[in-house]
Amino acid sequence: SVRKRTGGNYPAPLAALRVIEHGLGQPLQRGFDLEAAEVAPLVTSPVCKNLVRIFLQSERAKKEPLGAPPAPVRSLVVAGAGVMGAGIAELATRRGIAVRMRDVSPEAVTRGLRTIRGLVEDRLRRRRATRTEAGAQLARLMPALDLQGLGRCDAAIEAVVEDLDVKRRVFAELEVRLPARALLATNTSSLSVNALAAGLEHAERLCGFHFFNPVHRMPLVEVVRGDRTSPEALATAVALARTLGKTPVVVSDAPGFVVNRVLMPYLREALHLAEEGWAVADVDRAMRGFGMPMGPFEVVDEVGIDVAAKVAAILARAFPDRMSESPVLGRMVEADRFGRKTGAGFYRYRGRRREPDPAVIRLIGVTPRRRPERLDALAERMALVMVNEAARCLEDQIAADAGMIDLAMVLGAGFPPFRGGPLRWADALGAARVESRLNALRGEKGDRFRPAPLVSKLANEGRTFTPPPTPAPTAAAAS
Ligand code: NAD
Repeated sequence: SVRKRTGGNYPAPLAALRVIEHGLGQPLQRGFDLEAAEVAPLVTSPVCKNLVRIFLQSERAKKEPLGAPPAPVRSLVVAGAGVMGAGIAELATRRGIAVRMRDVSPEAVTRGLRTIRGLVEDRLRRRRATRTEAGAQLARLMPALDLQGLGRCDAAIEAVVEDLDVKRRVFAELEVRLPARALLATNTSSLSVNALAAGLEHAERLCGFHFFNPVHRMPLVEVVRGDRTSPEALATAVALARTLGKTPVVVSDAPGFVVNRVLMPYLREALHLAEEGWAVADVDRAMRGFGMPMGPFEVVDEVGIDVAAKVAAILARAFPDRMSESPVLGRMVEADRFGRKTGAGFYRYRGRRREPDPAVIRLIGVTPRRRPERLDALAERMALVMVNEAARCLEDQIAADAGMIDLAMVLGAGFPPFRGGPLRWADALGAARVESRLNALRGEKGDRFRPAPLVSKLANEGRTFTPPPTPAPTAAAAS
């Protein structure tokens, strides 16, 4: 059962079992010796180093000094009571912030309230909250159909439909109603923060605040710095993310930010494989074997195929040399197969169960005929696509450094922590090997695999994306 949970990728739990098994009934000192013998190779292993590095990066994201004094956020307006808006309102009220949750129809507000009540009741059932705490939390929530009484709100987070014009209208309304110093934040996953800022009187107080779904479970928030975002607004947003218990990674305003930009070509590569005749379940199995918590098709089904198709279209427009829209997503949407939420996507859903669905073969248009012997080769191909795009993000300075890109991919996309993130994994392979594998794939499959200039540069210079770990102090240095 341990192997089932770790996928065989985390050696420590099995070592702990061995120590218990062999140490039981032995003298204490014998137990200590066994433990020391098991711990030594673990703490010097790449898995341990990768996990420690991810931990240190996440501490850095949570504690690094802010560039300006943040303003306190005690009251918040959340525009939109859908999947994300309700999730954000639940989180903020739980963390002691008074929230006004606004939507356009009584039905939408009621749906949002139901979502929040469900989350609170779940916490009660799991004894994560007492009745008093739950009562106090719900008392901090005010549902609304209008935007009255916002004169004392400290911040607004917008989570309405993904449409530039609708969002612009929402910000125009919010801007005149909130105090001039209030933070304005958008939860957009694919629109430009700069484009949203265009019509605002005080564009300097707008930033992106990109949560992941489900809000209560996913630890990452990408805080997007627009060209005009002020240091104070950015500091307030980062501090707010920390108050909400999330790990903020500051990113610049470029299509897909970090996580979706790296994830989309990977999901597209999975579709290329299906279009080449690999079975959907085998492609997913390959990535689970690599260490992802879910395969790419399982992820798309959870996210919603309609949502994924929209983001994919925006990224394909932004990076046409290497990203393209897959006709398969369009066909799935036309067939009303939106993923888990409609009971069918790349799989069929019966309650919580996920099953393969032969009807998908017709929509993909290719009967799977490939034998799944080399799953690791498929996984490598999909993972290299992530590495290449992560390298371009680093080149374009979308995040501060390789550490923050790796952290975002581990926390936001489930990249296996034991591999340390896409760039750390690339360092383990070596830039020269990454470049030659990409070039081989480019020859076989096309230009989308062209190595990012930074990959080639590092390969030429024999360097790594991430700084090499600082050597452990020698006995002499330590004394
Ligand atoms: P949703 O469709 O579940 O909810 C959107 C809500 O906004 C609806 O209830 C709608 O009635 C409401 N709305 C529309 N116009 C409004 C207005 N003028 N004022 C107030 N409310 C209005 O959508 P969602 O999945 O919650 O997504 C919301 C935003 O979050 C989008 O920008 C989306 O891209 C982003 N996002 C979504 C996910 C995800 O996985 N669903 C993840 C990250 C970010």
